[in-house]
Amino acid sequence: MKQLEYFLPDEAATIAIGSGLANVLKSSTIQQSLVVYLNGDLGAGKTTLTRGFVRGMGHIGNVKSPTYTLVEPYELAEWRIFHFDLYRLADAEELEYMGIRDYFNNDCCCFIEWPEKGTGLLAKADLIINIVYQDEQRIIELRAESDHGEEVMTELAQIIKL
Ligand code: ADP
Ligand code: MG
Repeated sequence: MKQLEYFLPDEAATIAIGSGLANVLKSSTIQQSLVVYLNGDLGAGKTTLTRGFVRGMGHIGNVKSPTYTLVEPYELAEWRIFHFDLYRLADAEELEYMGIRDYFNNDCCCFIEWPEKGTGLLAKADLIINIVYQDEQRIIELRAESDHGEEVMTELAQIIKL
């Protein structure tokens, strides 16, 4: 499966997509790292979706927006997750200084808001997610960009019935 689209009537639906992705990675025998690019205007729900994912992976507690820190790490017992928000990145070189390449190991999941600010320095996406305003609600489009992304989407389609 290469493309999926869902109507998201409320915040809970956005969270459900994130936790659905977590369930896919936790339950499957497929490779468990994942690079996700999150596109969408301010307030669309990129952080909300990531919160659903991080909690779904077993994190208990806050998932705050890394707007000022650029990256928020979650070191779970079996997982390492990095949540990036590059909105405030002034210069892509800042990413070099923070050692961006070290974040893209094959044993971790990276969710990246505003990935276009890091063009050329980020790992290639497995999934590109676009969240679009539909009045007060949202539509989400997911597109696989790798074989691994396709596997994940195929399993996601089986568990998310919105
Ligand atoms: P972003 O990270 O894209 O800037 P946030 O996730 O921080 O956006 O904020 C999204 C806002 O929209 C939150 O107030 C959240 O409650 C709300 N929201 C999330 N998903 C939906 C949805 N499907 N329908 C309506 N409101 C939503
Ligand atoms: Mg955000």
